Amino acid sequence: MKSKFNYIALIAFLAVLSLDQGTLFATEIHQPLHRVRWIHDLGTGARHIVGHKILQTAISLRCDEIRTRTLPATIIEHQPSPAVEWHEIEGRDLSKIENYLRINNIPFDANILASGTFADPAQEHSKNVGGDDEVRTLISSGPPANRIDIVFMGDGYTTAEREKFFSDMNRLVDDMFLGETFTSYLPAFNVHVVFRPSEQSGIGKDRPGKTAYGLYREGDTLRAIFPGDPGALRDSCEQAPDCDYPIVIANDPWYGGLGGEFAISTSSLKSGTVVLRHELGHNFGRVGEEYDGGGYFGANHADELNSVDWKHWIHSSSPKVHAEPMVARYLAWPWHDFKEGSFEASFKSNGQYARTSIRFSASGFGSPDAANPINLEVKLDDFPLQFTTPESQDRTFIDIELPQGLSAGDHRLVFSAPANASITSRGQWLSSLTIHEYAADFPDEISTVSAFPVFDRFRSVAGYRPTNEACLMRDMTRVHFCTICQENNWMKFLDRIDLIDQASAQKNEKGISAAEVSTLALGQYRTLGEAAKDEKIEILWFAGGKELIEYRDLNRWEAKTPIAAKDLEVEVRFLTSEIRRDQFGRTNQRISVPSR
Ligand SMILES: [Zn+2]
Ligand SMILES: [Zn+2]
Repeated sequence: MKSKFNYIALIAFLAVLSLDQGTLFATEIHQPLHRVRWIHDLGTGARHIVGHKILQTAISLRCDEIRTRTLPATIIEHQPSPAVEWHEIEGRDLSKIENYLRINNIPFDANILASGTFADPAQEHSKNVGGDDEVRTLISSGPPANRIDIVFMGDGYTTAEREKFFSDMNRLVDDMFLGETFTSYLPAFNVHVVFRPSEQSGIGKDRPGKTAYGLYREGDTLRAIFPGDPGALRDSCEQAPDCDYPIVIANDPWYGGLGGEFAISTSSLKSGTVVLRHELGHNFGRVGEEYDGGGYFGANHADELNSVDWKHWIHSSSPKVHAEPMVARYLAWPWHDFKEGSFEASFKSNGQYARTSIRFSASGFGSPDAANPINLEVKLDDFPLQFTTPESQDRTFIDIELPQGLSAGDHRLVFSAPANASITSRGQWLSSLTIHEYAADFPDEISTVSAFPVFDRFRSVAGYRPTNEACLMRDMTRVHFCTICQENNWMKFLDRIDLIDQASAQKNEKGISAAEVSTLALGQYRTLGEAAKDEKIEILWFAGGKELIEYRDLNRWEAKTPIAAKDLEVEVRFLTSEIRRDQFGRTNQRISVPSR
């Protein structure tokens, strides 16, 4: 992965030295790049190195620079429990990296670091390192050094389940990357899968079982899945051509997952992609939730109305951002087991609102046997509410919209399951429940961009989000990001990789005779995924600082007469309706073209 900014800095540096560009360029890029990953345990405060890799990667960082990045702390949906933060530092000069480690109180052994033979302590303790991993690349868009490399691993798949593993991975990759959610970013991605067989089928309960990576759930509720053996996961991920975003899929038919260093989900047909795209939303965009009662940070959140940073997406004649009028009447994550009877939510309204939204998630209802489903009954003030019984017994999100507000006074919402319901060992659960009311002038259109309140557990406003229901960071069942998250993802990706893969020119004694540039295959060069509206790559060539208009938008050309200029430059611009603001110039890259 590379940074455009640093590439431009490198070019400037080369120009200043005015040496033969090709030669110096080659020298600089042939310095190996060190990438050190470390972990900060927010509970104990401990920091330690978990990986050190030496990469031979082109362009990227100048010799005297380092680059760092942080992923969000581990996210357990609907639980405010940051556990571990994951960091990365890259540089070509080891002494600069050592300095950084010292300043940040991260213990290291200089000899081991210099030799590049560092072993992850978690890997040393892991029983599962050095297995015969089978690596396949499912999507290849270009050189790993200048692409976002996503690696899928699976836990709880036995040798006999090898075919199931590859078919689950193909299905998830198709849903996620060829389907709607990430399709426009596809030319920036490589997708690899790594198969490491497990002794047992399925994952552990309450503690790691005999599986490749030790994934396990706690208790019977369908929520977090924890990585029992992170060392083995890091070891496997390193077997792929590059590992920027590790994903682990539990061989388990039910809802569950986690965000953080590893995005974790399951092979559930119903909820596997639902969980995975949301967790990747956290990891790719470095953003928090848009739902109520979550952790908030990043591009999709504003603490105050006057700090809203998505005004360029708001269609409004008024320059002032206003909060859309809605209230939270009830917010809870009851994890109620219907073995203990029905669940009752009591709340009040002031009778001033025009519409009501009741949203809950439940598991164990419905049935594959359509003739004999297990029905959940929901009554508001003794009137049964109509909704479609889910087709699956997995955890499902259900939305009931009432076209009127609630009357002033006390209300009661009661959830009950039939007495003889328990045909699955997991039983019936009510996981989450939110009740909101909207005022008459609240926007009808779900994708309207404005400032919508998010509420904390006590139903107080905890800040603002960009849309009401258009984002999968709020509504896990959606397949799209809001326009703000979509744009932010582009910015995060283009911060890590360059638009230009490489450029070169041919020279003869009379001057420059031909040139070519290769870019990320976006716009008219796209062969993967689906472009958003108005996606285009613009290419501009400059000789001696003046544009060669006749070669505009050509990615290769031969000069009719050789161009007698000392320097040739190329500028590549990326245009898409998904990006409206580019504060750091990431959609533009101009470089010197080395000649040979
Ligand atoms: Zn989340
Ligand atoms: Zn969003």
